[in-house]
Amino acid sequence: MNNVPVLDTFKRPLRDLRISVTDRCNFRCPYCMPAEIFGDRYQFLPREDLLTFEEITRIVKIAVGLGVTKVRITGGEPLVRQNIEELVAMIAAVDGVSDLAMTTNAYLLSGYAEKLKNAGLKRITVSLDSLEDEIFQKMNGRGFSTARVLDGIRAAKEAGLQPIKINAVVQKGVNDETLVGLAEWCRDNGHTPRFIEYMDVGTLNDWKLEEVLTAEEIVQLIEERFPADPVGPTYPGEVAKRYRYRDGNGEFGIISSVSQPFCGDCTRMRLSPEGKSVTCLFAETGTDLRDSLRDGSTDDEIKKAIIGIWGSRKDRYSEQRSEETVKRKKVEMYHIGG
Ligand code: SAM
Ligand code: SF4
Ligand code: SF4
Repeated sequence: MNNVPVLDTFKRPLRDLRISVTDRCNFRCPYCMPAEIFGDRYQFLPREDLLTFEEITRIVKIAVGLGVTKVRITGGEPLVRQNIEELVAMIAAVDGVSDLAMTTNAYLLSGYAEKLKNAGLKRITVSLDSLEDEIFQKMNGRGFSTARVLDGIRAAKEAGLQPIKINAVVQKGVNDETLVGLAEWCRDNGHTPRFIEYMDVGTLNDWKLEEVLTAEEIVQLIEERFPADPVGPTYPGEVAKRYRYRDGNGEFGIISSVSQPFCGDCTRMRLSPEGKSVTCLFAETGTDLRDSLRDGSTDDEIKKAIIGIWGSRKDRYSEQRSEETVKRKKVEMYHIGG
């Protein structure tokens, strides 16, 4: 198979593949999987519906042939998928994957960090919305304290999965007063925090614009305490805007998809746990690839299907966000992993 970079209708190349390996999670963050909806009786995908590690790796190989160089494993919570380190090793062995990362809530990370590093994981992003236990307990929807997450981060650092990025979703009136504390802790420990504007993903979190603290407001908050200057992206299409502290002690990032959308640079395709390709975080639905993986289709046939999906992509949801689009049917974040 020849490598042919594929462009969408806005000439955006396909560079990143984000793979959601499960729709299950051990947290119930209200902005993602509200506990009232995802209760004991909630029917998650049965095992046979999930793509196998072999099927996922096959898609990765095909996607590399279309320009993908960066792969991120996410979920749901990727560490609740059994033997996830085996998938990491399989993807790490694919020629052409230059960056392999994972996003996790880190609750199970202390038992996995070394295995993941040995399997070939390059980087890890840990979601941690606040260091204040009371706030964190609310934001994970399970009443878990930060202790295990901090253990997980320590283990990742010890295993050499560095530098570690710390993602915090910012909700006005919920965790905004603890952002500076999180930034300070990250500075002290050599991690890079990335503050994410609360987004209207999915249909379940009852999102309201009033609950969004904008990128500008977040930067102002951090800069008041730790003066910083904006710096350019490390690579084309980097979604976080970067700010470097003037005292030279690291940096922080802001993901401003609500107040300053970046659809023009969006090079990401998502693969859902049951094998749908989803071309936008806010898409209504995805296109099934699992049938092709299971019906004897050749790699070339699957490649053509992906070329068709990406080639006809017109997504620019965040640039068109309005009261009407917010209410639209959308795939859920826990399902496609961000
Ligand atoms: N469970 C893993 C975790 O939380 O890191 C991976 C999946 S989670 C869906 C991926 C990222 O999406 C997390 O950093 C999470 O904070 C973010 N996220 C989920 N819902 C969000 C929302 N409504 N707005 C902004 N970010 C959100
Ligand atoms: Fe789980 Fe991550 Fe969603 Fe929180 S953000 S409920 S940890 S998938
Ligand atoms: Fe990409 Fe869709 Fe987000 Fe725009 S709204 S940056 S197209 S995922």
